[in-house]
Amino acid sequence: MSGRIYLDYNATAPTRAEAREAMADALAMHGNPSSVHEEGRRMRAAVEQAREKVAALLGAEPKQVIFTSGGTEANVTALAPQNVDRDASDRVVCFLSEVEHPSVLAAGRFQLDSVRMIGATQDGVIDTQALKREIERHTERNGAGSFMVSLMRANNETGALQPVAEVAALVRKHGGILHCDAVQAAGKVPVDINSLGAHFASLSAHKIGGPHGVGALILGDGMANLPSPLIVGGGQELRARSGTENVVGIVGFGAAAECAAKELKKMAELAGLRDHLEAEIARRSPSAVFFSKNVERLPNTSNFAVPGMKSDTTVIGLDLSGFAVSAGSSCSSGKVEQSHVLLAMQADPEAARCAIRVSLGCQTRQEDIEAFLTAWGTLHENFLQQRNAA
Ligand code: PLP
Repeated sequence: MSGRIYLDYNATAPTRAEAREAMADALAMHGNPSSVHEEGRRMRAAVEQAREKVAALLGAEPKQVIFTSGGTEANVTALAPQNVDRDASDRVVCFLSEVEHPSVLAAGRFQLDSVRMIGATQDGVIDTQALKREIERHTERNGAGSFMVSLMRANNETGALQPVAEVAALVRKHGGILHCDAVQAAGKVPVDINSLGAHFASLSAHKIGGPHGVGALILGDGMANLPSPLIVGGGQELRARSGTENVVGIVGFGAAAECAAKELKKMAELAGLRDHLEAEIARRSPSAVFFSKNVERLPNTSNFAVPGMKSDTTVIGLDLSGFAVSAGSSCSSGKVEQSHVLLAMQADPEAARCAIRVSLGCQTRQEDIEAFLTAWGTLHENFLQQRNAA
């Protein structure tokens, strides 16, 4: 749709031309990557080249990459008591931060009564002191190595970065397993599986300009922690994820990962545009609230609210003017619900009802932001007039 300005990269980044081309080439090929004949070997080679590119984005070795059907499946595969203790004894619990993505909050294969929630600060960062207390209390009673922690690297709604490396040190000290949902961080800030210290990290292709429906679980510590499979059968992907590989999707993911790795510097520069956007909103609306502004966050993300100016009305008004942005989490798109992330941050409920997320990408230009400010400014003026008339 020409003339539209897309500012919803955290929901899905537009598919990169490189990914589209690579997928078109893969679509023209045939054969099963598990077959020994030439056709099969060509498909296998395409998968393995993509694996190298995806691994490189996270500083991993290709053998550490398990392809999945997306970020959700990678999260659910990692979140299993069997990945902590093969006997999956009842003592194994899972600590989750309240600001995790719904695909993590559902807790995978953990029974809900073995899930322990850890709160967040008003800036949307996990309360590490609370986590430390809970881990110590749990391991005193149940012994070391009896827990998993899942902590995202970057929050999809606010962009707040989480102290994953610090938490990794704590988890490892007590013999636990750490899973990191790196779906939003990858390609936006440097992410290195070894520096993170996580045992598992999840990725999703469509957040970095690849296709929907493909992702990966990256194994930290080399091959030491093969996950218990969620999908069993033919034993593909090191027996960790059965099913004939989605070759076209995987190839697109590989091409997108290669481009994303090269664009990290450009991504960092988006903070300038984002900060300009926020400064202009603040100038026009002194009551505006900017979530997670006081902490380290993704360079492309702004989540803000003008109390009283409802998110759904603003998102629809912007859409009609040609701008795509989100109200809260994209996964609840279609129905605007109170954001669990903002509630966990103890945001004022009225401000939470008015939050919109603007997320930029490398194609976003200064003139897009100026055009957005004009469109948002008109909606804001209308809002002020209606409020004053009431
Ligand atoms: N984790 C986070 C932080 C996300 O933002 C998303 C998607 O919105 C997911 C996981 C799920 O990824 P996928 O859409 O590939 O299932």
